Amino acid sequence: MKRIDVLTKILGEIQDEISTLQKQCPHNDVEAEFGSNSGNLCEVDDLYWINVRCKECYKHMRFDSNEHSNEYRKYAKFVK
Ligand SMILES: [Zn+2]
Repeated sequence: MKRIDVLTKILGEIQDEISTLQKQCPHNDVEAEFGSNSGNLCEVDDLYWINVRCKECYKHMRFDSNEHSNEYRKYAKFVK
């Protein structure tokens, strides 16, 4: 087996383990930041979102205010 194949296999195993840990994490300790593109000519085109980074598992997530309203509200309290 070529070295690149060995490394690719190890990397895949590591990524699987990270993914499993992130799925199990409750993401209770996060940093969050509002984002928006408001100011469009048509207000219906304005988008609001929250970028969330979990301090425990390092997962990055983005929740749009109109598509993920529950998650958006859940993490809004963490925005500084
Ligand atoms: Zn997490």
